[in-house]
Amino acid sequence: MEYPVRYDVIVVGGGHAGTEAALAAARTGSKTLLLTHNTDTVGVMSCNPAIGGIGKSHLVKEIDALDGAMARATDRGGIQFRTLNSRKGPAVRATRAQADRALYRAAIRNIVENQPNLDIFQAACDDLILDGDGIGSTVCGVVTNTNMKIYATSVVLTAGTFLGGLIHIGMENHSGGRAGDPPSTALSQRLREMPFTVGRLKTGTPARIDRRSVDFSVMQEQPGDTPLPVMSFMGSLAEHPQQVSCYITHTNERTHDIIRANLDRSPMYAGVIEGIGPRYCPSIEDKITRFADKSSHQVFVEPEGLNSNELYPNGISTSLPFDVQLDLIHSIPGFEKAHITRPGYAIEYDYFDPQQLKHSLETRCINNLFFAGQINGTTGYEEAGAQGLLAGLNAALRALEKDVWVPRRDQCYIGVLVDDLITMGTKEPYRMFTSRAEYRLVLREDNADLRLTEIGRDLGIVGDQRWAAFCEKREQIEQETQRLKTTWIQPGSTAAEALAELGETAISHEYNLHDLLKRPALTYPLVARLKGEPLSDDPRVAEQVEIQAKYDGYIARQLEDIEQLRRYEHTLLPDDLDYDAIGGLSNEVKQKLYSLKPETLGAASRLAGVTPAAISQIMIHLKKRN
Ligand code: FAD
Repeated sequence: MEYPVRYDVIVVGGGHAGTEAALAAARTGSKTLLLTHNTDTVGVMSCNPAIGGIGKSHLVKEIDALDGAMARATDRGGIQFRTLNSRKGPAVRATRAQADRALYRAAIRNIVENQPNLDIFQAACDDLILDGDGIGSTVCGVVTNTNMKIYATSVVLTAGTFLGGLIHIGMENHSGGRAGDPPSTALSQRLREMPFTVGRLKTGTPARIDRRSVDFSVMQEQPGDTPLPVMSFMGSLAEHPQQVSCYITHTNERTHDIIRANLDRSPMYAGVIEGIGPRYCPSIEDKITRFADKSSHQVFVEPEGLNSNELYPNGISTSLPFDVQLDLIHSIPGFEKAHITRPGYAIEYDYFDPQQLKHSLETRCINNLFFAGQINGTTGYEEAGAQGLLAGLNAALRALEKDVWVPRRDQCYIGVLVDDLITMGTKEPYRMFTSRAEYRLVLREDNADLRLTEIGRDLGIVGDQRWAAFCEKREQIEQETQRLKTTWIQPGSTAAEALAELGETAISHEYNLHDLLKRPALTYPLVARLKGEPLSDDPRVAEQVEIQAKYDGYIARQLEDIEQLRRYEHTLLPDDLDYDAIGGLSNEVKQKLYSLKPETLGAASRLAGVTPAAISQIMIHLKKRN
């Protein structure tokens, strides 16, 4: 049977990649269908209900700058907000929100359901309709599990952990897309018949615990931050629901003994699981094996929601058998009497080598077919959402017969993510970090809108409301910066005396306020009123004016370094170069450089796994050496 409507874009999967893909495609004006297993699970968070974190919030804010949904849903669903790295520079500062799982899902669903040009349909996609055969063919639709054919110009596949999903709890395993959901088996088999390189990865989640069985009095309380952060550039504090605390407890030697004694019953250590797990989000059995000298690991006890008694014990993800999960949890202070509501588990799933993609996220071998999210070897909602937005946008641009958008590494973390995946591939779940970006002083979370909203507007995915708010903010920043640059204070003036009262060195010549703001101890609120009044009372304008003034010099220097890097293509790397002496190189990169001994910096930069950030570190080291 044929579906009655023909679409410009079909997005398969209603997870984090799928919702951003469908929304972005629809925002271009393309007629879009979101086809997903279950319309009630649109926007479900498979693991911890938390959004953001280091490197990840940069992606969330970029999605937001391009008018995506993730940050807005976080503001409506976030029940504990924190600014991470608040004492460090703005390049690595990050926002993290613990979300109420139900509120977040409701917010995403509300945004999806109210998006013009977007239809939702509940069915499994079991096959793709191709025009032609194999490499060079063109996708032109999908076939559902009820054998319905739906036609479209472009298809975006965002099947997450569902393709060939296999759930492990101890030595027991069964097929599943995630706990409670069916796997995508027919589609997985069909894709394996197509010319793709398919691998297996794994991820895991901890048991959930009933809060009524937990003793919080022995744990450390972790309230949200004041002032309360806001995730979206369009967001406001008024949107936040009630805020609650998280708690911290720790594993101990007893916990570790229980795990060590049962490693032979772990599917990972018994060799039952083939897939490689996330390096930066390891299971507790992985942690105690890899960091055998550590006698304790932190466990963040995080609420799953305001109206739920379930807690997420972040840090003890496991696929050990249920009886071992019980023992290990009961050995942790505060959890002695904990009741487990859901067991932890690991899941193995198919992923596609991302080197088979173009930078637009279109597959190289099948035209108009785009892949996004976990199926490209990434992990995390934010990484999935970012790819989804890009793939959905490009799928729509293809349908509209327009040029696709390929974000550059110096424009955004989305560009870094896609470039890393496509140039280096990945053998383990890839997550974003600020250290992956060599242009991180430029790519801050606070300026994602200034970097991307105009681009998004030109591409047709930024709506009028955001565009108007953005233009006003940008103008206010420019006007206030201009005011600071043209407001001078003279030695001996009242403003100069006020400066001295702040403990600053007396000025010996005329200074403008913008230059004064570059002094480390002076903040914008102090400088802005030395003479005259700020032109805006918006804290986001104030933040931008301050950061741009303070980091002006550093940013200029970084841009010079980048320029120089291009010229260093032929710089020789001495045979005896001591890579251990170079700060910031990961063990993985060092091993590669020692074993492959690239002759030039250019050659080193092309080695899979050697990041541009690592090349910058080597370059800085060579500069110091000479
Ligand atoms: P998903 O969120 O998985 O969404 C896929 C969607 O596609 C679902 O709606 C599904 O129903 C639908 N779908 C699949 N196949 C079909 C089909 N054939 N037809 C129609 N619809 C289909 N991330 C971390 O960062 N840290 C972690 O520690 C972590 N642990 C995890 C633990 C577990 C057990 C799981 C399952 C995931 C974990 N994740 C973790 C990953 C995180 O959930 C994913 O990165 C994120 O959800 C990926 O988003 P996605 O949109 O690519 O896929």
